Amino acid sequence: GQAGAGGSVNWLVPLPLFVGAAVGAVYVRRHPGERRAEPRTVFTTAEEAAFVRKRARAAELLPELGLLIAEAPVALPGGTPGMERALDAYAAAGTVLDGARDLADLAGVVALVEEGTAPIRAAMNAARPSRRRLLWRRSVPAQPHTPLTCFFNPFHGLATAGEVSWRMLGRRDLLTVAVCAECAAALAARRTPQSLTVRHEGRLVPYYEVPPEQSLWAATGYGSLTGGPLAPPVNRGDFRRAAEQR
Ligand SMILES: [Zn+2]
Repeated sequence: GQAGAGGSVNWLVPLPLFVGAAVGAVYVRRHPGERRAEPRTVFTTAEEAAFVRKRARAAELLPELGLLIAEAPVALPGGTPGMERALDAYAAAGTVLDGARDLADLAGVVALVEEGTAPIRAAMNAARPSRRRLLWRRSVPAQPHTPLTCFFNPFHGLATAGEVSWRMLGRRDLLTVAVCAECAAALAARRTPQSLTVRHEGRLVPYYEVPPEQSLWAATGYGSLTGGPLAPPVNRGDFRRAAEQR
């Protein structure tokens, strides 16, 4: 359509200031000085090492997303809702990182960073004049689809193979989950995909076998089971409430 930068000029100047302030506020809140020790499930040394390593990597993703948000071309079709979703996801990723106690939580950070990155990337792609768009004059969707990371393990990356039907061991109902290419190939070959495991009641189990009231990730399948973004439930306090049940 006729959507475009023309009508958005009014908030071209103040929005970057607002974004800068919001990112800054989240950053300051996330670094209050001394971090209080969270009670932890007993881990083996190897699990502890994997957690520390992945936590450090997850912590690096946050400022990367903050920078992307601060530099985003906001005066674009769909710019404002996209920016809100990105900021929501950024805040939620910070909350989850601060309260992270296992790999499932860190996978949540990865999923939320993807959720925040997608609307910014979409805005950037929309800003770039492409030959295809000039030829076809396709309108840019104002609400790009929330990207899903692989249901079985968000560390696998985005669910590029799309949705597949899958039955959880010992359950009757068939679920629709979004998966990466590797997990799709495993399912096609009737092998069990490499699921993200967590320690629950002393045993390593796939994260989705934890009772949903004790894990936002089991409850949502990182977005696969709810079909919606993860930031709103985290920002409503669902992540903290579930962690308190563990
Ligand atoms: Zn996968």
